[in-house]
Amino acid sequence: MVRRVSIFGATGSIGQNTIDLIARDAEAYEIIALTGGANVDQLAADALRLRAQVAVTAFEDRLDDLRALLSGSGVEAAAGEAALLEAAERPADWIMSAIVGAAGLAPGLAALRHGTTLALANKESLVTAGPLLMATARDHGAQVLPVDSEHSAVFQALVGEDIAAVERIIITASGGAFRDWPLEALEHATLAEASSHPNWDMGQRITIDSASMFNKSLELIETKEYFVVTPDQIEVVVHPESLIHAMVGFTDGAIMAHVGPPDMRHAIGYALHWPVRRALPVHRLDLAQIGTFSFRAPDEDRWPALRLARAVMAEGGLAGAAFNAAKERSLDGFIAGEIKFTEMAAVVEDVLTQLSGDPGLSSAEITLDTVRQMDHLARQRAAEAIAARQ
Ligand code: NAD
Ligand code: MG
Repeated sequence: MVRRVSIFGATGSIGQNTIDLIARDAEAYEIIALTGGANVDQLAADALRLRAQVAVTAFEDRLDDLRALLSGSGVEAAAGEAALLEAAERPADWIMSAIVGAAGLAPGLAALRHGTTLALANKESLVTAGPLLMATARDHGAQVLPVDSEHSAVFQALVGEDIAAVERIIITASGGAFRDWPLEALEHATLAEASSHPNWDMGQRITIDSASMFNKSLELIETKEYFVVTPDQIEVVVHPESLIHAMVGFTDGAIMAHVGPPDMRHAIGYALHWPVRRALPVHRLDLAQIGTFSFRAPDEDRWPALRLARAVMAEGGLAGAAFNAAKERSLDGFIAGEIKFTEMAAVVEDVLTQLSGDPGLSSAEITLDTVRQMDHLARQRAAEAIAARQ
């Protein structure tokens, strides 16, 4: 049976890896929607090649160019937030959620309300609105499948297991670009240095977030929200080889580890073919040649983001939305040269300190509106904190 598939964030790193898998077996899929941002050349080329129903750019000022590229092809062109939602509501069997940042939440919720299976790379959806996302899935009988490599690994280690027998979930971290830098050098880390990952080839924002460990801090919250475990059951261990993606420790003392090459097409392919396993075009590991798997404890002086994530999990409510928005704004600030690498965590901590204790943070109901309001407020506070440092 032909499966109807949409890819949100199709022009990005996850989106392109998803297209790579789908294009290998194009006859098996009908492409409903592909979405992207400013890169309409890539979006149009993929939409034409895969004969998508509609191509959507997030940016309205890119619509004319997208239209011109698709003219006469029969592929519809659309732009803007409303068009993204409309595309998410088109009947489909499987949607890849691979927009980067908080912008990925609304289309994912719209897809779930239509019962569509959501392959979730956009971890920000769980960080900002985990309870809302999972409840929407439950209420509409829709499945959320994790695509983040650590969470896909845990999901796979849990097949046939009872969550009540889980004692701990251990997610691994490569340590990113600055794992072995002297601490005092971090302050002077450049954008180019932070944008290069030792093991994974990913989008720029998540690569910088890997160097600061904000990525791992988002993943701690993602683990709590998706698997419904308590924060003290989740551990982070630095594993420089990036070959073990996560481990699950059970009440009998056994640990199940998921091992594989650092290639996102594994986790994407697992979610694409779930609940069955199919052959995937990823490199096979030669363990004797690899020789060693090494581990070390994460250093919270080097990576204060991990400590902040623990505080956010303890606070609950909209703290995740505030944390993510402050993180996104401070990342923008680092990319724009407004603040230093090490100031990103300081800005996020400033914002959390200002907002914590506010009942609007910890006990507000989590809806798309309250998440958006908190997102807006935290970005504003982060901008002020950045301005105060200049
Ligand atoms: P990327 O920057 O390469 O691509 C992001 C995509 O989102 C692009 O298609 C871009 O056009 C689109 N986009 C950007 N801003 C948008 C907006 N405001 N509205 C709508 N669309 C917008 O990012 P990526 O590395 O592919 O990551 C995508 C998501 O997957 C992120 O949430 C990331 O944390 C997660 N993830 C990525 C990897 C990886 O290997 N790249 C691994 C695990 C999880
Ligand atoms: Mg990950």
